[in-house]
Amino acid sequence: MRNKGSLVWGILITLAVNILPLGQYASADEVLFIASDHSTGYNRNLFKLWIDADKNGCDTRKEVLISEAIVKPTKSTGCKLVGGKWISRYDFVTYTDSTKMDIDHLVPLAEAWRSGAWAWTNQQRMEYANDLAIPMALNAVTASVNRSKGDRDIASWLPSDKKFLCDYLKGWVTVKAKYKLTVDVSEAQIINKYNQSCGLGYQTKQIDLSPTPTPSPTPTPSPTPTPSPQKIVFTPWASQFDTLSMTQAALDATSTYFGKVSPSNDYEITIDPSITIADRYWITSALDYANGLFTNIQREKIKVFLGTTHAWSKNTLTASNLWVGDRQSPYPCSQGINDAYCAEKNLVLLIYSDIYAPNSQYRWDFGRRSTPAHEVFHTVQFALAGPNVGGDSQLHIPRWLMEGSANYFGFYVADRLGFDYYQTGRNQQVNTNPAYKTSIPLSEYDNFNSDPYGIGQAASEYLIASVGFEKFLNIWKFTKSESSFAEGFKKATGLTIQDFYSKFESARNSMRIGS
Ligand SMILES: [Zn+2]
Repeated sequence: MRNKGSLVWGILITLAVNILPLGQYASADEVLFIASDHSTGYNRNLFKLWIDADKNGCDTRKEVLISEAIVKPTKSTGCKLVGGKWISRYDFVTYTDSTKMDIDHLVPLAEAWRSGAWAWTNQQRMEYANDLAIPMALNAVTASVNRSKGDRDIASWLPSDKKFLCDYLKGWVTVKAKYKLTVDVSEAQIINKYNQSCGLGYQTKQIDLSPTPTPSPTPTPSPTPTPSPQKIVFTPWASQFDTLSMTQAALDATSTYFGKVSPSNDYEITIDPSITIADRYWITSALDYANGLFTNIQREKIKVFLGTTHAWSKNTLTASNLWVGDRQSPYPCSQGINDAYCAEKNLVLLIYSDIYAPNSQYRWDFGRRSTPAHEVFHTVQFALAGPNVGGDSQLHIPRWLMEGSANYFGFYVADRLGFDYYQTGRNQQVNTNPAYKTSIPLSEYDNFNSDPYGIGQAASEYLIASVGFEKFLNIWKFTKSESSFAEGFKKATGLTIQDFYSKFESARNSMRIGS
């Protein structure tokens, strides 16, 4: 939003204050994480086979055959193998004609796809498909045993000869661990069953999505106890009510609008290989859920970039022709210091740059975990309101609404997924941050320096609780059709924007915003 170019970024500002200790995912790479399979999108052609990585004239297939031969063949022109003898690894059949043998991927390509390779680049998939570093990753076997195995995992296929069982399983976990692939529940059972007897040395672990507890603030003793105010149930546009009841009304209205949710992974995603399986898992869960909520709204398919460093985001977006150089910053949507999250019409960028050293003055984990849905909501705003949504034209949606609604939605989704509780995060965002302890009118929160997130979140709740979620979305829709935010707002909510501002200011005390 800071930039006047055609790209418009919405940034979730994070304030660097405290450095917290390492989170619960610090040891992510020492275990195999359990996750359900990614069931769509596999295509064998996405894995480039049999390259000649060392440029010695012999491709991966030939390298495997040469290394596994019990009687070495001789190499003639073009790495043609003459002579030699092999024993098929899974069924111990002897061969003297290597052209009759298949090269089997111990962890089949389709299985790799289901357990993580769906998120890789083509380069990473090519490296996986041609891995000569793990001795068991590729195996010369009979065509019949290769066909019998197909793309099955260890829960449904194991070599029938028990002599080879432990080697097979060791190879399986080694490949899965090296490439940070997940295991499904039934694979985990097999690994646990043979862990001792085969000396596998790997643990399987459910990905823990439960919230990290934050220390409760030291209570300030109040000398004179004030009588607790009477609970007033929220009614639309009321100026006196119980905050909890207003917020709950907004959340209920949102759930009513969405009904039963089917998560959808119908978006393109590019993932920095350094991001851990555990982080990848919760982030894609949130993306799937948020994306699935808006399958009824006509949008372009979004492209998601999920990274850990600003250099990665710059290089990856540049390579895709999606970033042509920020107007003010060396990296897309950041100065390269804090995490960077931004979105435009069909693009979502999430850079958890300091994922291993989180910093924020409040509830870092919840703020971070609300971000995927926050940014997805920006893409919905663009879809509804058109390209001028973030500019400064008549069409532009004020920042308190643009960011406040995205914040609301991010917290809503994080709450639904059980990452934390909406009310907890809300109180931290709206009431704890000193930036909100002011009496500056809502209408003036229309730039990033004013930190429009928390107060905008409260104003969005007030709007949704009063008019429901569909009419709330209509603000964007009608802003586009009326070519004016003021007209669109009036048509969607039945109130002029000035009337809304004065109702909000009268309701401010009930919302506990300001001093
Ligand atoms: Zn934003």
